[in-house]
Amino acid sequence: MVDIDNIKNVAIIGGGIMGSGIAQIALLTGYEKVTVIDLSSEILEKSRKLLQKRIEALESAEKCKEFFASNEMLKNLDFKKKLESFESVGIVANKVDTKTIMNRLYTETEISKGVKDADFVIEAVTEKLELKQGIFKQLGEFTPPQAILASNTSSMSITKIAKDSKRPEKVIGCHFHTFFPITGMLIEITPGEKSSEESLVIGHQIAQRFPCLAGKRFTVCLEKEFDGLIANRISLPVQIYFDWLVDYANNNGFTLEQLGVLQMAFQIADLVGIDTIYNIMEYFEKYVSPDFAPGKHMEKLIKSGRLGKKVGKGYYDWNEDGSIRNPLSIDENALKFLEKHLKEEIFLAIQFNEACRVLEAGVVKSYRLIDKVIFKGTFSPGPFKTGKNNYKEWTKLLYKLAEETGKSYLKPCEMMESGKFLTLR
Ligand code: NAD
Repeated sequence: MVDIDNIKNVAIIGGGIMGSGIAQIALLTGYEKVTVIDLSSEILEKSRKLLQKRIEALESAEKCKEFFASNEMLKNLDFKKKLESFESVGIVANKVDTKTIMNRLYTETEISKGVKDADFVIEAVTEKLELKQGIFKQLGEFTPPQAILASNTSSMSITKIAKDSKRPEKVIGCHFHTFFPITGMLIEITPGEKSSEESLVIGHQIAQRFPCLAGKRFTVCLEKEFDGLIANRISLPVQIYFDWLVDYANNNGFTLEQLGVLQMAFQIADLVGIDTIYNIMEYFEKYVSPDFAPGKHMEKLIKSGRLGKKVGKGYYDWNEDGSIRNPLSIDENALKFLEKHLKEEIFLAIQFNEACRVLEAGVVKSYRLIDKVIFKGTFSPGPFKTGKNNYKEWTKLLYKLAEETGKSYLKPCEMMESGKFLTLR
């Protein structure tokens, strides 16, 4: 069994939103060497600068506050308290300075060089299956034989990703639920069909050690692989509905600019990356249900290069300092038009149904665990908390919704309709 204390070198493939975020927590965990690998030295330089700023920001509560000033979700946190209880292995608490931490960061454009002495590799490249399969083929060739090889995929089968790796027993899923891993508590560990118990145990231990600003890190191990894992899987069918809704409004003459009432969803999509959501929907369309086909408005955004905040434009235009340049106003006519569709209950029912599918597939054994995962990932109550008392009403609602939208995937599953989930507490 690999000893967790012998894991010294971590390599991260992809230095984008997630690669940079994972590099930050790997550096703060105290690994001796953290190597970020990406296609060009320009991308790597951008990632290095971001990391420098993000690590410096943790030196004091004042710096933290300044750093998060334009982040609506985080700007009001009590950073002093958060930093005091920061569960890193003490690297910040022990006043190890940013320079020392940054000296452990290496960058590389060639995978063969970047992973040659890695003990743990985490892949965080664009969400495209063939691309990931190609990366894992190289990891199988160039990493030391004992290395654990993880993918941060949001949606895909680890078995498919590991197909050409020649070492599928070493390959696992290690999915950080939010686009800012230092503030998100949830990490999901997933097996592929051939992942060894040892790889999963080590992956779990490594994940559990990553520091988290929001509180104690929460890592869940899935019983079996499932496209979209738990948290994303539960929220993805909402995207079917959301895409339908935006296209429906567009078809009725309302432009994206008039749909300011959907601003929260637009903002999150811009932060996650429109291309990432699009790629996930395409994968789901192919492997789960054709109803996941990305909406027309989303296709337009992709075609015009509006990939989200990371490129400065998505649903919104973004300023350099991370603020929004063109906030949308709420158009009264559009609001009236959408009102009958914007009921919280619809969103909750869709998520509840999908949570029942997660149970039905045997991904976890109890619905309480699903509720815990959702709470740790989103800070909102889990789907069963309200769903268990409302499922009969929601069953009717979902049949109606499936008919109205023409999306049969939104129909209630057997586990929901029959109430069988109640036996899997
Ligand atoms: P991103 O577009 O910000 O970054 C992807 C990076 O991969 C880019 O820098 C790109 O240059 C690099 N890349 C592409 N091909 C490469 C190659 N052959 N070799 C090396 N680097 C290559 O995307 P992201 O948001 O960081 O997402 C990365 C992965 O993490 C995806 O699998 C995504 O589904 C997953 N994920 C994303 C989020 C999120 O909120 N954005 C959350 C959890 C997981």
